Amino acid sequence: MNTLIIKVDELMLKPQDLMVAAKILREGGLVAFPTETVYGLGANALDTLAARKIYEAKGRPSDNPLIVHISEISDLEVLAREIPEKAYQLANVFWPGPLTIILKKKDCVPNGTTGGLDTVAIRLPANPIARNLIAESGVYVAAPSANISGKPSPTKAEHVIKDMNGKIDMIIDGGMATLGLESTIIDLSGSTPVILRPGCITKVMLENVIGKVEVDPVILSKNPDPQAVPKAPGMKYRHYAPEGKLTIYEGDTTLVIDAINQKAKEKQDSGKCVGVIATDETSDLYRFGIVKTIGSRKDEASIAAGLYAILREFDELHTEYIYTESFADHSLGHAIMNRLLKAAGYRIVKVV
Ligand code: AMP
Ligand code: MG
Repeated sequence: MNTLIIKVDELMLKPQDLMVAAKILREGGLVAFPTETVYGLGANALDTLAARKIYEAKGRPSDNPLIVHISEISDLEVLAREIPEKAYQLANVFWPGPLTIILKKKDCVPNGTTGGLDTVAIRLPANPIARNLIAESGVYVAAPSANISGKPSPTKAEHVIKDMNGKIDMIIDGGMATLGLESTIIDLSGSTPVILRPGCITKVMLENVIGKVEVDPVILSKNPDPQAVPKAPGMKYRHYAPEGKLTIYEGDTTLVIDAINQKAKEKQDSGKCVGVIATDETSDLYRFGIVKTIGSRKDEASIAAGLYAILREFDELHTEYIYTESFADHSLGHAIMNRLLKAAGYRIVKVV
């Protein structure tokens, strides 16, 4: 398949820019597009055959449901039933934005989109290209991250091109995804709101709007029981994984740097290609391997935005071993550590 690649500037968006992409979606095709979280791979969510193409292109397990993207809050009522007041409270504060809400689904949402579940995940994205594309297409857009299943999510069009060129109809290059981590997922289909995936909208931010919110215990664990089943089916799969073996070092910063230097030297001396994920504050202190800076510890958002790109850069370099510092496990840091732990297959070394 020939994949059409177009460049669109979100600040100078013209209605005609997205006409071809919207038509492809209407006709059951696949279009990758930027959102403020990561790039999404879109298809008509109410068309089972179109949704199935997403699973084929990504190699995604069929029990892993898709998030349905809408362009107006009122679209909620078309897709979901028994919508609690809390859903509207959250939508009014955080939409458009990086929050996905799980609700009981209406019959029009096919099982092929929800992985057979009786619930549906819904998000109204903020990126103007995403939002205009959904509105222009006239369909609801199922869109998981536009990467091959298991790989780090794409935050730049070049990541999507690497994974999807030749497999989908179109890629819209709209520059870098500003946040760089997937949306926070909150389940409002039961009696208590539960966070199923941490993201840029934190527990505290949610609790400020709707009161008590729980967190799926499986995602809190640094050492998960392999038998434990997370409530978001996708969270059980290995994710965000670079090709090299990633290990997280945790502890006092000076000790972590010493331990990483020692390990990186050892591997480098034995002829291995080694990468180190450092921060602005520490990068000068690493002496072995390829040292890349993820962002500044003073600006956690820069670390979130840089995480997947750095993992992909190490893939390009065929790095065999990657060592990284760990980050504070609260607020946005909680989402960063959740992704980092998955990428590392929960390989963590505590330095004392
Ligand atoms: P992605 O779009 O690649 O970021 O993945 C979507 C995530 O949302 C996966 O972890 C899914 O398991 C989760 N998800 C989607 N729909 C539901 C649902 N109805 N119930 C629980 N989790 C869901
Ligand atoms: Mg994904």
